Amino acid sequence: MNFETIGLHASLLKALTESGYTEPTGVQLLAVPAALAGKDLLVSSQTGSGKTAAFMLPALHKFATAADAAQETQGKTPNQEAQSARSRNERPRFRAAQPKMLVLTPTRELALQVTNATDKYGAFMRRIKAVAILGGMPYPKQMQLLARNPEILVATPGRLIDHMESGKIDFSQLEILVLDEADRMLDMGFIEDIEKIVAATPATRQTMLFSATLDGVVGTMARRITRDPQIIQIAGAETRHENISQRVHFVDDMSHKNRLLDHLLRDVTMDQAVVFTATKRDADTIADRLNIAGFAAAALHGDMHQGARNRTLDGMRRGQVRVLVATDVAARGIDVPAITHVFNYDLPKFPEDYVHRIGRTGRAGRNGTAVSLVNHSETMNVRRIERFTKQTIPIDVVVGFEPKRSASPARPKAGGWKPGDGRNASKPGQRSFSKPSAPSREGNSYGKGARGDSAGRSRFGDR
Ligand code: AMP
Repeated sequence: MNFETIGLHASLLKALTESGYTEPTGVQLLAVPAALAGKDLLVSSQTGSGKTAAFMLPALHKFATAADAAQETQGKTPNQEAQSARSRNERPRFRAAQPKMLVLTPTRELALQVTNATDKYGAFMRRIKAVAILGGMPYPKQMQLLARNPEILVATPGRLIDHMESGKIDFSQLEILVLDEADRMLDMGFIEDIEKIVAATPATRQTMLFSATLDGVVGTMARRITRDPQIIQIAGAETRHENISQRVHFVDDMSHKNRLLDHLLRDVTMDQAVVFTATKRDADTIADRLNIAGFAAAALHGDMHQGARNRTLDGMRRGQVRVLVATDVAARGIDVPAITHVFNYDLPKFPEDYVHRIGRTGRAGRNGTAVSLVNHSETMNVRRIERFTKQTIPIDVVVGFEPKRSASPARPKAGGWKPGDGRNASKPGQRSFSKPSAPSREGNSYGKGARGDSAGRSRFGDR
């Protein structure tokens, strides 16, 4: 499924294309259709998983389609009427802001990120205003922002309460309530403020709650403020996959990568494998190449008809296909216990996808092996995965397939894991790539590190 088949409004599709988003992330894939269907959502996912778009795209879609309908029936949107009143010099009397959507966030930084993302996604909509109401912002400035009667308010709970109590905001028209990083808001002691705010909103609202965890106090609150919610659990940093031996092999170029892959696929401990590629075309090409080399390989990707996909998966389950060459979205949820190895021919776009990928092996209580074939230029991407998973991925070298460039001159040279011994010859921590970062809810995310990049995107380099 892509953004188009999910059925998003054309103006959003345009904005997504401009933003360079080609495919939905895992959380978007699950949350966007459910939210479009009007469901309440309880989502456990991390910063960096693409969760902002997961709640903002369905909300903007709703506003865009409502604006289209209003335009058709009345000729003018309510906002256009307000604008023409202004142009007739009729000064509107002070009215409390009546937002249609409220996003509560624990911090100012996150509120600003959400507002910026909203501006980006809503760039081609007829009119949509999102403002951030934050502690620390001068009061007159906030009054000015509220006077514009924005459709979307993004706020930290404390400051919002002040405005609510002084009658500057009226939530009677609220359609969508989002609690972003709800666990953090509770950690910060916002529970009473949140309860008060929620109580001021209509019971008919759609509620979406995002949190690193849905257990404990958060879970209790989440269930109280949602109705028959769809629960979406996205694998997070805490999914440690300790039964999966992970390693990185550095390669010099494509030919080195292909030779090493063929060699590793001959490992006698290998039963079945999934090889992940960045593109559908690569999945086809590599599957063809592996077949010629004598492996029973098959491709699996989103351009294949459902019938063909089902046949391939059946072949995998029956053991006729030994090597599945797949893209992320197509391979999501594959549950074949005989998959002993996962190979990242290309690294995934999101660290979250790395966790999904390696989780295709080591199923049903078995052990598994996950190998990433990495170019020296992708070092940063491996680090981001390590930060996200809070695990160090050892570097390994196979004798006869050593890269010309050593991965890190400061580190000891790799010994020799040989296919067949079925374990990682690296002493964990010895040839490690980098030390795990100190646990931090924000620091473990992929998005966080890349947020400062000029493209404003946190994807790994474009391929
Ligand atoms: P978030 O988890 O919402 O903070 O998003 C993390 C980063 O991923 C942000 O920089 C987004 O712009 C980016 N992002 C979100 N969805 C996608 C997507 N489908 N494709 C590429 N980048 C995305």
